[in-house]
Amino acid sequence: MSALSRRHFLKSTAIAGAAVTLGRHSLRAALAPGTPAGGAIPPAPSWVDQPMRWAQLTLVEDDPGKFDLKFWLDYFARTKSDAVCLSAGGCVAYYPTKVPFHHRSTWLADRDVFGELVAGCRQLGMVVIARTDPHATYDDVQAAHPDWIAVTADGKPRRHWASPEMWVTCGLGPYNFEFMTEVKREIMSAYKVDGIFINRWNGHGQCWCGHCAQNFKAATGFDLPRSASPQDPARRAYILWNQNRLFDLWQTWDQAVRAINPDSCVIPNAVGGALSPLDMKRIGELAPTLMADHQARHGVTPPWGNGQKGKEYRAALGRKPVVGIFSIGLEEDYRWKDSVQNPAEFRLWALDGIANGMRPWFTKFAGSINDPRWLKPVEELYAWCATHERYLRNERPLARVAIVYSQQTLWFQPGEQRARQHLTDAANGWYHALVEARIPFEMVHDRLLDFEHLRDFKTLILPNIVALSEAQCAQLRQFVERGGGLVATHETSLCDEWGVKRKDFGLAGLFGASYAGKTEGPMQNAYLRLEHDTKHPLLTGLEDAPRIVHGVWRAEVTPREKLLPPPLTLIPAYPDLPMEKVFARTSKTDIPQVYLREIPAPPQAYQPWGRVVYFPWDIDRTFWEVLSPDHGRLMRNAVDWVTNEEPGVTVTGPGVIDVTCWRQKDSMTVHLVNLTNPMMMKGPIREFIPIGEQSVRVKFPDGKKVRSIKLLVAKQPVPIIQIGPWLEVTVPTILDHEVIAVDLG
Ligand SMILES: [Zn+2]
Repeated sequence: MSALSRRHFLKSTAIAGAAVTLGRHSLRAALAPGTPAGGAIPPAPSWVDQPMRWAQLTLVEDDPGKFDLKFWLDYFARTKSDAVCLSAGGCVAYYPTKVPFHHRSTWLADRDVFGELVAGCRQLGMVVIARTDPHATYDDVQAAHPDWIAVTADGKPRRHWASPEMWVTCGLGPYNFEFMTEVKREIMSAYKVDGIFINRWNGHGQCWCGHCAQNFKAATGFDLPRSASPQDPARRAYILWNQNRLFDLWQTWDQAVRAINPDSCVIPNAVGGALSPLDMKRIGELAPTLMADHQARHGVTPPWGNGQKGKEYRAALGRKPVVGIFSIGLEEDYRWKDSVQNPAEFRLWALDGIANGMRPWFTKFAGSINDPRWLKPVEELYAWCATHERYLRNERPLARVAIVYSQQTLWFQPGEQRARQHLTDAANGWYHALVEARIPFEMVHDRLLDFEHLRDFKTLILPNIVALSEAQCAQLRQFVERGGGLVATHETSLCDEWGVKRKDFGLAGLFGASYAGKTEGPMQNAYLRLEHDTKHPLLTGLEDAPRIVHGVWRAEVTPREKLLPPPLTLIPAYPDLPMEKVFARTSKTDIPQVYLREIPAPPQAYQPWGRVVYFPWDIDRTFWEVLSPDHGRLMRNAVDWVTNEEPGVTVTGPGVIDVTCWRQKDSMTVHLVNLTNPMMMKGPIREFIPIGEQSVRVKFPDGKKVRSIKLLVAKQPVPIIQIGPWLEVTVPTILDHEVIAVDLG
């Protein structure tokens, strides 16, 4: 990069972040782009916290000719939906637009379908937001404005992959910055909606158009990157510049609509939470509310996947409302967008989202009803939510454990690390282990590790969080020094925040172990010896097991200090064929496969010790792949040991339950979502299978009196049994879910 171009890069990105040295390039980190002009974040619209039950009607182009307005308004009323998202414009305009090249529905005639819907919903007292989708356009647009169209790597204008008569638009050029800004202004001026939800607004992969090439060069000095490696300086610059452009685009639109209606905003589809190409920390600062768009499961996905998104979004949004979009149709790769899913399946998906603090949003594609089987189940679910609204208006979760997620690790970790693991497997392993252990937990963004964001947590889990800056490592050390617990796995902190490998872990001091320069794997037929003489609580529940299976990848590490005998030692891999050769060449080594440390804290700390468990191997990723209960047990024991306090809620009984615990203004709740089902790991659920009695023990807040306890699904009061600070509640059975509501005086 030339000095001149480097100046350009610095100028365009020097908003926040630390200077880093990369070979001969010194770049300034630009992970906080898109600060609005003047630097102030505009206030949240007044309506943002009101809606608890969202409806979405995504119109298709021929709807205006056949669409039954009365039916939909009636359905919104019957479901007690208090907010709605309605298709307005972008790809198709459902109102008489005057913006040149804004394509009116061919079936619109002289109607204003969008306007009719808005008026009807307003009469119902609903919050109304308009949906726009700018990602595809038509031949007339391409002919008049060829530079509005996305370009492929070989220089050709890009046809739409599913509707080949259409064109894919460039997300970062004048189509979005100019044309779609006019569209938004027109919608806001004409209808004064409460907000605009932007769908598929962020482009579809890299665009090679002239605007992108020129703007990228001007900002960074680089040509558009040809390599996918995040270690390529041009690719790294692109990852950051792409975010800058998108944050600028969002803010451009947001300012345009607020100039017309100050009590409105533009809400982006944040595409993916932890998997988003956009920095969730920055999104969380700018957005007054967000909709998590994980509509249903597909392939092998557990039903907790919806709640997981809620946790990822909440990590960035704090107490701002998080809304969970669920589909009433199938979400498989074949995209049957006009389908209806088995109601038990979408009900469980929505319930897990609600239990995890999300406000439900059902989405229906097309105004016609080809299959009515979803209508009644959504109505029933929403009716229950409306009845118990005050117990669903959560103020904060009561979890004490949190899993850290790291977008920078996803973006920047080196290729060989990316190649050997699915990027989210380690985190999913922890997620599943904690659900099985019935430990309520949250998620935390790795760029929000400051005291304020961590104060409610006793334990943090780092699931192979490879890329961490020195500053982040320092925050984690402070957390442990304050008495916090930490569990980390495998190559956590082996790279800096840019994915550049360090000689040693950034957290080597906490781990009590240093990287020996090598990672072994994939290991076939390797084992762990359980050293029961240590009597360590890590081995609780495994007392009758002399050895268990190892993981698949193992970082070679050396201890940094004299260790107590470790509870897990390595039995190295040995041949798995021919069968005659399958015997351990070494049945006992003294190589630790777990590092356990208790760290003295200063006298003013609220706990005498911070505890750390470090597994040098991929226990979490292997657990996700193999689901060995032995690994699950070790993970749970590790969390229990570092947390080192009595849990705030315990649930004892059969089955798999997602347990969450919440505080509201005058109450607290424990949600129990019954995931026990032969279709738990691969939907769709056919039917709910009731599970038997659960004994629940809940610690209630200091200084509060319990007025009453009830079960919100069984619809029955339960006796108040109080033992010290603990309430004991028996839940006789759970079909799909139960909520224990404790009214506090
Ligand atoms: Zn472009």
